Amino acid sequence: MSDQGILAVVSGFSGAGKGTLMKALLEKHHNYALSISATTREPREGETDGREYFFVTKEAFEEMIQKGQLIEHAQYVNNYYGTPRQYVFQQMADGRDVILEIEIQGALKIKERFPEALLIFVMPPSADELKRRLVGRGTETMEVIDKRMRRAGQEAAGITSYDYILINDALDQCVEEMHQLIQAQHKRVSQNLEFIQQMKSELTDR
Ligand code: ADP
Ligand code: 5GP
Repeated sequence: MSDQGILAVVSGFSGAGKGTLMKALLEKHHNYALSISATTREPREGETDGREYFFVTKEAFEEMIQKGQLIEHAQYVNNYYGTPRQYVFQQMADGRDVILEIEIQGALKIKERFPEALLIFVMPPSADELKRRLVGRGTETMEVIDKRMRRAGQEAAGITSYDYILINDALDQCVEEMHQLIQAQHKRVSQNLEFIQQMKSELTDR
């Protein structure tokens, strides 16, 4: 079977619980590598450079784009976000399943460039619950929360380009469903062409 890791993209409205899910998934299952993005936004309280994000200036970000160091980048509510290339390919080559937790424009670019990537969209059980979670998180002002809710409304239009949706109601159940979806991807024919070829030759050489 193929040793190459899966490239999985996880998107969802801000506040749907992506960060919480990722943390729980990585604690429970060990063959995942979470890509760390570069961003021009300010760190939130408790965030550390190189752990949640690489926090960079706009100039440094634009230089990364120019040098081809990002496999995708997008603007989200006045800031740039992008996925550094090297880590993703290294981890996949080492056989780890890599997760990009990115917004929708970036996800669609990934699908265009890597059609075999798995795109998962995480939904809250309802819009009211989404707002409750954003307010409850307490990391943004009401003005930013309203912007993020409006952005969620626009993003909903793009969900049909994803492969799967997951509803993050009971957290543990959602974590297991995500794990199952990603692991099933290893069994895809397109992920196993070398093995299939080898079997063909063994059969014809008999
Ligand atoms: P995102 O990364 O998608 O913006 P977070 O992971 O920061 O979202 O979650 C937003 C808020 O919702 C946090 O306060 C988190 O504790 C809470 N949360 C996440 N998942 C659930 C869940 N399944 N049930 C209830 N609250 C949740
Ligand atoms: P936040 O500011 O809440 O950490 O992230 C805002 C949005 O940017 C989220 O939807 C998150 O998934 C997305 N994001 C984070 N990193 C990247 C990235 O590298 N590329 C893209 N396109 N979006 C990202």
